[in-house]
Amino acid sequence: MNAMDKPLDGPASTGPAARRLSRRVELRWGSRVVRFGGDAPVMVQAMTNTDTADPVATAIQVRELAAAGSEAVRITVNSPEAAREVAYLREALDRGGLDVPLIGDFHYNGHKLLTQFPDCAQALSKYRINPGNVGRGARGEDNFAQMIEVACRYERPVRIGVNWGSLDQELLARLMDENGERDRPWDASAVLREALVRSALDSARRAEQLGLAGNRICLSAKVSAVQQLIAVYRELARRCDYPLHLGLTEAGMDSKGIVASTAALSVLLQEGIGDTIRVSLTPEPGGARTREVQVAQEILQSLGLRAFVPMVTACPGCGRTTSTVFQELASRVQAYLRERMPEWKSRYPGVENLTVAVMGCVVNGPGESRHADIGISLPGTGEQPVAPVFIDGERRITLKGERISQEFEAIVEEYVNRRYGHPGLVS
Ligand code: SF4
Repeated sequence: MNAMDKPLDGPASTGPAARRLSRRVELRWGSRVVRFGGDAPVMVQAMTNTDTADPVATAIQVRELAAAGSEAVRITVNSPEAAREVAYLREALDRGGLDVPLIGDFHYNGHKLLTQFPDCAQALSKYRINPGNVGRGARGEDNFAQMIEVACRYERPVRIGVNWGSLDQELLARLMDENGERDRPWDASAVLREALVRSALDSARRAEQLGLAGNRICLSAKVSAVQQLIAVYRELARRCDYPLHLGLTEAGMDSKGIVASTAALSVLLQEGIGDTIRVSLTPEPGGARTREVQVAQEILQSLGLRAFVPMVTACPGCGRTTSTVFQELASRVQAYLRERMPEWKSRYPGVENLTVAVMGCVVNGPGESRHADIGISLPGTGEQPVAPVFIDGERRITLKGERISQEFEAIVEEYVNRRYGHPGLVS
């Protein structure tokens, strides 16, 4: 018997590896507590691209990102003008009933802004510090210490976020020198990875020496190349138990950014590595910033790590779907489910696990539709113009005519109400 004919001893395993055991960190604002690390679900974050000195535009975008599902929102704090507006921004969000934690992103002058604007320090739930951008030598150490002291004073967690575009050059030069003395020197990219890891770990150790509790520290080490990112995070995961924030930095635009981020993050998440994630997409001009939240959620949901919104299984279509009816219905159903989620989420617990299939013809349509909670199999070219609907695996209704889409949405709505509704809450 050759290897291909040999049956498995048992069922092949599926699903991600056990989560790496990390410390648990809490982000707090008001009565809201968002946990990550430990056995908490992998958290989704996003970052604004508005000028924080414009609190109205920033508040609007924070609201959009939070509504899309960002569980904490990072904002740039890069100038006195921006720092001055952070408390006002926070108040505006609070007044509007939005308690999503805000994370301040600091580079170069974070020590000054956090110490000179205590209202800003207090309004933020977490600080992101880039050890490569705090200054050089003794001055850099002092600047870093000032920021950690503020974090200790206000009991805020810190992300020590290293980035290969702003890596501590003194550390890199030292490691290059050390490498030169090895009998068999590493290649340059291995030294660079070690510098990223060492910068994050050394800074975390220093933060703890300065009095910051170990469960108030999270690490990231972002690079823009997929294989490098995977290697860096594997190493970080091996050498510490701080929670890790994953993200492929400068991932790029459109499908390139989405594919590269998904490739990198999926490998790590599948290995149990990663406690919070962000997908750093460059939006198209005028494009929605919320796309990065949607992609992050879809990565986690596709891996079976979390569920956010009912998943639509749709076939790609082929020569059997020569009209646009199928594409239009698939896209309408997807949009409909996303639009309904904010209301459904509060009324129908568990609805995010619903599965819906929209299929183009009789070849795989009925089969795939039976596997979903609700499925519709549209008529392919030359088939009878009817669309059977399958509910819980059984063919129940057949739709036809101009209003297939609206009627299918009504069936989905009724199904959700019946399956996930709670008597007394459903009108
Ligand atoms: S289900 Fe039908 S329309 Fe869809 S890809 Fe398969 S053969 Fe083509």
